[in-house]
Amino acid sequence: MSKIKKALIVGGGIGGLSAGIALRKAGIEVEIAEISKEYNVYGVGIIQQANALRALDALGVADEAMRRGSPYGKLKLCTVNGMLIGETGTPPIGRFPSHNGISRKILHEVLHEAAIEHSVKFRMGLTIASIQNEENSINVEFTDGSTGTFDVLIGADGINSKVRKLVFGEYQPNYTGASVWRYAFKRPAELDTSYMFFGKNTKMGLVPMTAETMYMFLVSAEGDHNPIIPESELIPRLQAHLKEYSADLAKGLSEQITDPKGVIYRPLETLMLSLPWHKNRVIMIGDAAHATIPQLGSGAALAIEDAVVLGELINTDDSVETIFEKYIARRYERCKMVVDVSETIGKWEMMNWKGIELPEGANIAALMDKTLITLTENI
Ligand SMILES: Cc1cc2nc3c(=O)[nH]c(=O)nc-3n(C[C@H](O)[C@H](O)[C@H](O)COP(=O)(O)OP(=O)(O)OC[C@H]3O[C@@H](n4cnc5c(N)ncnc54)[C@H](O)[C@@H]3O)c2cc1C
Repeated sequence: MSKIKKALIVGGGIGGLSAGIALRKAGIEVEIAEISKEYNVYGVGIIQQANALRALDALGVADEAMRRGSPYGKLKLCTVNGMLIGETGTPPIGRFPSHNGISRKILHEVLHEAAIEHSVKFRMGLTIASIQNEENSINVEFTDGSTGTFDVLIGADGINSKVRKLVFGEYQPNYTGASVWRYAFKRPAELDTSYMFFGKNTKMGLVPMTAETMYMFLVSAEGDHNPIIPESELIPRLQAHLKEYSADLAKGLSEQITDPKGVIYRPLETLMLSLPWHKNRVIMIGDAAHATIPQLGSGAALAIEDAVVLGELINTDDSVETIFEKYIARRYERCKMVVDVSETIGKWEMMNWKGIELPEGANIAALMDKTLITLTENI
């Protein structure tokens, strides 16, 4: 029987919602404080690897995510003109396929609906203003002036986490020099799985989201100083990047990019919180502790796994400190591996684009394969 009765989760994204469900399953009272007044999740997609599906299953939502998404097999690797040069991806785990492509909006809805079903309480449009540690509890003041007392606080407020700043001090995300452009499209009948095309200066991927829709991602190097791109330049710059892709699946995509608000441009940043990830009664999960770039498509998977492991450990009679230490012992190396390997792949990709020779033995597909296989190991 857990000694923890009441938890506050700051941040109601993929990690926070997953933690809400996991803790409710362990019988803990849960409040989520989410800074947005209402959710407005963008409509491009996200890849859920088999290990993400396994973690979603522990929360009871994997089948719903697959029903509302698009399960598929391996990722096909191609030249710009569509010639197949290889395959990679997570091996299936039991009944879970290699991948499920899903709209971020829909994944959010699946998790949000489950959180509501499990009676997670939501406080929208606010965050924490201050934290005060007591011997057996934590007192919180919220930005609307209200207060609350909890047994534990879970920081799930993303890469620019306020909880992290309040508890662990200032951390700056590390801009990698690469950026990603995304856009949602109607899915062509020929898109039987996910594809990645390697260009001279960029790489571009197509990922199924439903039977009717897919999204494109294009990774480019936009300079060392994290440029802010005005809305008026988003479409022409993305279209310019797409020019070199002549594969059949890429034909006609450029002309379909007509809504600048639909172009989701984002510089790629990483952040790894130093150990320990806990202090007193506060523990960090998801991007707030370990934000990665999407070269392995695994950041959200890690956030969901964090939640599942925390829920499992909280459902014991261990002390708060022991639970947090066990959580870190199970999570740190795995999360660090994803952050480090993703960074390495990102670096090698940019070296390719700049014509710089890769270190001896560097092989992006082999490194992806090896890491994705490691991620199928039990958490
Ligand atoms: C371009 C790109 C593509 C990606 N593709 C994939 C992929 O295909 N597969 C995959 O597994 N992962 C992918 N990821 C990673 C994935 O998006 C993140 O790892 C995941 O969203 C992390 O979830 P989170 O809940 O920790 O953080 P977030 O998703 O950032 O959620 C944080 C939540 O906290 C809220 N919040 C922020 N500040 C506060 C505050 N002060 N108080 C209260 N609430 C607050 C936010 O509004 C938000 O709801 C990708 C990431 C990027 C950048």
